[in-house]
Amino acid sequence: MGLPEEHVGKNESYPGHDHSQPEREAKVNNVTPGLLHTLFPLRCALCQLPSQRAVPLCKGCTRDLQRNTAACPRCALPQVTGERCGRCLRQPPPWDSAIVPWVYSDLLAQLIHRWKYGRERQLTPLFADLWQRAAAIDDPPNLLVPVPMHWSRLLWRGFNQAQLLAQAIATTSPFNIPVANNALRRAFYTRQQAALDARARDRHQAHSIKAGQTPVSGLSVALVDDVMTTGATARAAAQVLRAAGAREIQLWCLARTPAPSHRTAAPAIIRHTGRPRPE
Ligand SMILES: [Zn+2]
Ligand SMILES: [Zn+2]
Repeated sequence: MGLPEEHVGKNESYPGHDHSQPEREAKVNNVTPGLLHTLFPLRCALCQLPSQRAVPLCKGCTRDLQRNTAACPRCALPQVTGERCGRCLRQPPPWDSAIVPWVYSDLLAQLIHRWKYGRERQLTPLFADLWQRAAAIDDPPNLLVPVPMHWSRLLWRGFNQAQLLAQAIATTSPFNIPVANNALRRAFYTRQQAALDARARDRHQAHSIKAGQTPVSGLSVALVDDVMTTGATARAAAQVLRAAGAREIQLWCLARTPAPSHRTAAPAIIRHTGRPRPE
């Protein structure tokens, strides 16, 4: 499912579009989306060629992204067979199902890094589009709950990418699911997590996420985040939602980091542009 053209045309700015001139913007808003894209074609965020689509990623570069098709059904870990992974067999996660349709490959990592740290907010509709076009939703939840960010980090970055993604998915989804930005909150900022081992990070995360003001009791909720790596954040958030009475919890993320063995086994892929894939 693609984004409606008018969503991109009217609400988002893209590189090369000068939205600083009110007169010009007013004129642009009066033209049809098709004409708008003819006048100001979107560029692909990876190869810089015209994307020829309503989102800033061309078909060729989209094909270079890696779908997470044979994933563990509980934690979405990229697998060969699509069976439950060993960890989920030993200790199932606190959510009921996971929809994470893309592998956190080098190219997707580049895009997500630019979005989060380069503050390229115009990439948000692209990620919602990628998620929607690859996700199979069997049972739409009542509420989308983005993974929260502490206010001090929010102040520094300017946005919570999980909130942006949830909002963009909600706006373009046919299910009309509301987004609850206050169902969860971060009680304190977890600094220097990279220096902690996975177990310590788990404990740290578990203590920082608390229930917020929006009630979730008796509801089916989808916890939304951009990338799932160790799953520590998602586990902590899902446990809080469960304790607050959530009836069913789905995990919706854009991309899943493969297990280390999976990563090293991946073959080098030459992109359609003829350039080697960046390391
Ligand atoms: Zn491209
Ligand atoms: Zn698993």
